Amino acid sequence: MADYDYDVLVIGAGPGGYVAAIRAAQLGLKTACAEGRETLGGTCLNVGCIPSKAMLHASEYFEAAAGGAMAAMGIKVKPELDLGTMHGQRRDAVKGLTGGIEFLFKKNKVDWLKGYAQFTSADTVEVAGKSVRAKNIIIATGSSVTPLPGVAVDNDKQVIVDSTGALELAKVPGHMVVIGGGVIGLELGSVWRRLGAKVTVVEFLDQILPGMDGDVRKEANKILKKQGMEFKLKTKVTKAEVKGKKAVLTLEPAAGGDAETLEADVVLVSIGRRPNTDGLGLDKAGLSVNQRGQIETDHDFRTSVPGIWAIGDVVPGPMLAHKAEDEGIACAENIAGQTGIVNHDVIPSVVYTWPEIAGVGLTEEQAKERGEVKVGKFPMMANSRAKTNHEPDGFVKVIADAKSDRVLGVWCIASVAGTMIAQAAQAMEFGATSEDIAYTCHAHPTHSEAIKEAAMAVTGKPIHI
Ligand code: FAD
Ligand code: NAD
Repeated sequence: MADYDYDVLVIGAGPGGYVAAIRAAQLGLKTACAEGRETLGGTCLNVGCIPSKAMLHASEYFEAAAGGAMAAMGIKVKPELDLGTMHGQRRDAVKGLTGGIEFLFKKNKVDWLKGYAQFTSADTVEVAGKSVRAKNIIIATGSSVTPLPGVAVDNDKQVIVDSTGALELAKVPGHMVVIGGGVIGLELGSVWRRLGAKVTVVEFLDQILPGMDGDVRKEANKILKKQGMEFKLKTKVTKAEVKGKKAVLTLEPAAGGDAETLEADVVLVSIGRRPNTDGLGLDKAGLSVNQRGQIETDHDFRTSVPGIWAIGDVVPGPMLAHKAEDEGIACAENIAGQTGIVNHDVIPSVVYTWPEIAGVGLTEEQAKERGEVKVGKFPMMANSRAKTNHEPDGFVKVIADAKSDRVLGVWCIASVAGTMIAQAAQAMEFGATSEDIAYTCHAHPTHSEAIKEAAMAVTGKPIHI
């Protein structure tokens, strides 16, 4: 230790980095975490998961009151939007949670090195003018918005914005055009639609939510359309010009063809995110990136340079906070000589629209490519709790191997799909068959009973349909 300032230095305090730092310190390693942002918590806590969920939750209540869902239960209200207060509670949530990480750092004796770190060699970085040497360095620098050529984001002007700008809009846009029908576009598009905006989603592919199960993508499109969201699929945006307080977009069919224009009060660019490696001085450390700009690691999160590890959005895999957290824990455990493992085949993903959309494991399309499958489906309309709660949209789908019955994937669209998917992930982690789920007693009346019934449907014997 004599030569080193720290056993572990983590670069970046997002869910990957801060969790790795805390775990390393818990394991008795002298740990520091470099973070250039004013507050800890990374994208997720500052401008991602948490603030978006604060706006989704609040706007859900607004729509339930305004849109008649409450009236159907005998509650008549005429809601008035106080957007300032709605933004205030979002900022409070962020402040509370980012401050909480600062407290956890102090409690676990993790030193926060304030500033952006840059490698000067394989075991040394410079942070805020100071050289810091560490036996192990974990790169957890996360990701940033992918820019779209011809569409310049300026969050201050509030006309063409990225997700950070879309969280901060000072007024509800008349017309919001969302470029990219992925997770961010549908979540933040839902927020502003619920608060009164007309929302048009322009998606390059022939369906929204690439990567999800085909049935789920189709059903999600149908439900969101019913709610008033408009979709322009197989369409690309080639240019966006700001004219006064509006933007004029030029659209073309993805396959080429005649251009059309579309006017918007706000344009949200949400076509994906790219890893943060610029300015890190990776070359000084002897590291390079792959074609997608990611840092490659082995199963234990080791990079090609001994002593340097990488986790989270900066490495291949889904860009999700819980994946980054689990990698952070496993990486710290591996550094401490333990066996840290992440099962990348069982990483749930959730889209927090209404209803929520969630999945874990293989899609039906992927599973069929690998062999014969059995599929069980159960509609939420036939689930007593969902029906009683006036939440009839969606379904659960269980995909199992035809021979072994082992569950390969579970997909749900349901008001609380994000909570329901946890039991599917746990079952799959334990190698469950569809029969295991079908014969597990589920509390009644709960939305989760739909997972049991879908599992029963794998062998053709659901009760309530
Ligand atoms: P990040 O959270 O990006 O953190 C990296 C940190 O490193 C940043 O704070 C950055 O300032 C810092 N950094 C970068 N370079 C340096 C340097 N050289 N020196 C020091 N510090 C540096 N995921 C979910 O699972 N659920 C959700 O609901 C969800 N919602 C999202 C909503 C939005 C609007 C967005 C944008 C993302 C959302 N995500 C969600 C994705 C999630 O935020 C990321 O997957 C997650 O934050 C990745 O964690 P990370 O630790 O790898 O990186
Ligand atoms: P995404 O990859 O989810 O979706 C991007 C969409 O844009 C895709 O549908 C893609 O086909 C489309 N697209 C790409 N180029 C286009 C173009 N030129 N014109 C029109 N459409 C185009 O990316 P995102 O929504 O920006 O989210 C970024 C990341 O953040 C995702 O990886 C996601 O996992 C993460 N995130 C997760 C959550 C969550 O877990 N609930 C929420 C928000 C963000």
